[in-house]
Amino acid sequence: MLPPGSTIGILGGGQLGRMLAVAAAQLGYKTHIYAPDAESVAAQVAAQHTQAAWDDESRLAAFAAHCDVVTFEFENVPVDTLRFLSGHVAVRAGADALEIAQDRLIEKNFVAGLSGRPAPFAAAPDRAALDTAVAAIGTPAILKTVRMGYDGKGQARLATPEDADAAWDAIDRHAAVIEGFVAFDHEFSVLMVRGIDGETRFWDSPVNVHEDGILATSTLPPPPIVLDQQAEARDLMARIADELDYVGVLTGEFFATDKGPVFNEMAPRVHNSGHWTIEGAVTSQFENHIRAIAGLPLGDTASPRLPVVMRNLIGAGINDAPALLAEPGCHLHHYGKAEVRAGRKLGHATWVGTEPA
Ligand code: AMP
Repeated sequence: MLPPGSTIGILGGGQLGRMLAVAAAQLGYKTHIYAPDAESVAAQVAAQHTQAAWDDESRLAAFAAHCDVVTFEFENVPVDTLRFLSGHVAVRAGADALEIAQDRLIEKNFVAGLSGRPAPFAAAPDRAALDTAVAAIGTPAILKTVRMGYDGKGQARLATPEDADAAWDAIDRHAAVIEGFVAFDHEFSVLMVRGIDGETRFWDSPVNVHEDGILATSTLPPPPIVLDQQAEARDLMARIADELDYVGVLTGEFFATDKGPVFNEMAPRVHNSGHWTIEGAVTSQFENHIRAIAGLPLGDTASPRLPVVMRNLIGAGINDAPALLAEPGCHLHHYGKAEVRAGRKLGHATWVGTEPA
């Protein structure tokens, strides 16, 4: 067990790191943020901050020497950075989970190998392969870059095979994977935490609504179809976590379909669809992630007061903050980002035991 006063290193300086740092402080830990960006909203609430490149080995070594355990909040940290740090300090979750999650093709094959069910897919490493892949999968379909895609970026839809040229240009001709379009009833996520000893706990699954590829809301309780499919999705996520000997919070995104849960993607970290756990669950995803990587007992994941609604405040949506603060039962989180930009996640609001006004 990591003693209070120890330092937890966090790779990445965004809002997930900020909420992890707050949770760590509550348990008596200091945090040290490492990120290349000039602005770090995590560093605003952390004891220490290193602004340096992901491949700066002398700065990484100094960071590792200062930390008792290191975790990450950003999915595009280079795997080599994690492997380098692992030679100096415990890194949880490990580099293997990140390596899989960073590559959609590796991820889908990994999940299929554990008897999971991703959407039908085919590799499209180049323009010629795309035609073969479209012929195999059919349309409608979604073309996604294999790497570096998030929040709907690096994606293009194909209504017919004739859309292949435009879709290929839209994703800047990067190596990609094509997925059959899943006719889903709802999207939901499985939020779980696994301790160093392998103990596993799940939060209730929220139903997630995306707008323009970005998460807009997460709501509990979910509709009956999600409740029916939660157990099968959880079993898959538990197999994934066990296979990776995973430590910390792990998230899986699923489509609820009339043929059962279809795996979309996983995130080896705390997740936007779990923000509601701060006020809506006995123990939040952020606290349980810190507990897990620190070797502390895991906390209760129950959500005792339903309904719960989490709404992202994106771009100009942050201007709703004063009105939301005046709403009973609404908890506001402002991420402290300086610049308001369209499509940028600037905060979120969570309603517990009540619906938004
Ligand atoms: P992703 O970045 O893969 O999570 O995709 C962003 C969003 O696009 C998802 O949350 C879905 O709303 C939608 N989407 C992605 N893949 C598919 C698919 N194969 N079929 C239908 N909708 C999809």
